[in-house]
This record gives sequence, C-alpha cells and structure tokens, in this order.
Amino acid sequence: MRIRHIKGAEELVAAHPLTENEPEKRKGKWRPEVFGNDAPLYLEIGTGMGTFIRESATGHPDINYVGIEMNSTVLLKAMRRYEAKAAEEGREPGRNLRFMRLDARLLEDCFEKEEVDRIYLNFSDPWPKDKSANKRLTSPMFLKRYRNVLKKGGTIEFKTDNRGLFDYSLETAEKEGWEILAKTYDLHGDSSMNEGNIETEYEAKFSAKGNKIGKMIIRYKEAEK
Ligand code: SAM
Repeated sequence: MRIRHIKGAEELVAAHPLTENEPEKRKGKWRPEVFGNDAPLYLEIGTGMGTFIRESATGHPDINYVGIEMNSTVLLKAMRRYEAKAAEEGREPGRNLRFMRLDARLLEDCFEKEEVDRIYLNFSDPWPKDKSANKRLTSPMFLKRYRNVLKKGGTIEFKTDNRGLFDYSLETAEKEGWEILAKTYDLHGDSSMNEGNIETEYEAKFSAKGNKIGKMIIRYKEAEK
C-alpha cells in the first residue's frame, strides 16, 4: 500500500495529544500514569492506519491499548482517523488507547518486564530475502524482545496472508520455545478462531482478492523461562 508522505508528519505526530513522546519515561508505569487504572495492557506492533486497534479499543473499554508504528505519516493518519471516528460517535478519544512512533526494536526501553498482557502482530512486512530476516517481526530477536515485556502466560496473536512468513513464524516460534496455542491457515473459514475477529486494512484488502488469512496464537513455555 503506497502512502503519500505528509509534510511535517514527524512534528505533527510529536505534537499530537494521543502520542506518547517519551515512552521510555513510562516504562513500568503505563497503567497508573497513562491510563490511570490497572486494566490489562495490549500492544499492536506495526499498527498501520489503525483500524484494528481503534475497533479493539472501542469494543473493549476495559482493556488498555497502545498502537506502535514507526512510520510517522501512517501513524498520523491512524490517529486522525481515530479522532474523527470518536467525534462521530460522541466519545472522548484516548481513554484506553494511545499511540507511539517507535521502531519495535526498542520495545524493551519502553515497557518493563511483565508489563504487557498481549501483543498483536497484524500483516507484518514479510521481508522475504534471507539477508533481511532479522527485520521480520517474528524473527528470534523480536520474539526475545516480546518475551521480555510480556507477563507470564501473555500471548502473541499473529495474522498474515503471506504463507512463507506464516510458516517461518510458526517454525521460529517453536524453535524459540513458544507453544502454539492455536493456528489456522484459513481464519475466515474457521468459525471458532474467527469469532470476534477484527479485520485490519491489509486483511480486508487481501481477503477481497481471495487470499487465505493465517492466524496463530502463541505463548512462551514458562518452565523454560
Ligand atoms: N497492521 C496493519 C494492517 O494489518 O493493515 C499494517 C500492516 S503494514 C504491512 C506493516 C506496518 O508495520 C507498516 O505500517 C510498517 O511501518 C510497520 N512496521 C514494520 N516494522 C516495524 C517496526 N520494527 N516497528 C514498528 N512498526 C513497524
């Protein structure tokens, strides 16, 4: 999906009230300082235009969400869409949803050990060439980062239509000591795993083309932690 760059997007994101600009300062304090409650904390990494996290936050007011995206233009659009939707529905934006511009490689600088309950990875970039494998959000290095911020028993939910990336992610997760709690190669044809599914922008686009969507839910095997 080609996105036209918004001039000054970086500054506009930094000035936006829904952005956490110094997320390192929130490390270990997201619940009390940002959300003012003790509710579970869910992250989406590579949030794109934000449909998934926006709909998730609206449908689950009892959960705190943080959308992480490294592209300023995309993030700005996600926040603007969220604000517009909230205004349309007469809701105050930001009560249980914040955004931050961050390369997820720095995740552990911003979240304390066991601070996060769940991580969503939706249609992550596949980086098909071997030399770029470390950039895949399900590579061993990224799984290690997630393990360091997830609470015991915390899960990762991953969706993609890219079969190569899906197989790689399953294999990598198993090798790295994660348990596959559930998986499907055809989410929309699997009534149990599809229950409550919120479509992302990429999911809507690729399933309209007839692509099957894979989903897996994984949890680190605690005995080995
Ligand atoms: N999740 C959305 C969806 O399903 O429609 C967007 C998918 S898009 C293919 C992947 C997004 O992940 C891009 O917006 C990209 O900027 C972001 N991304 C990729 N690597 C990232 C990283 N290391 N940290 C934060 N965001 C990242």
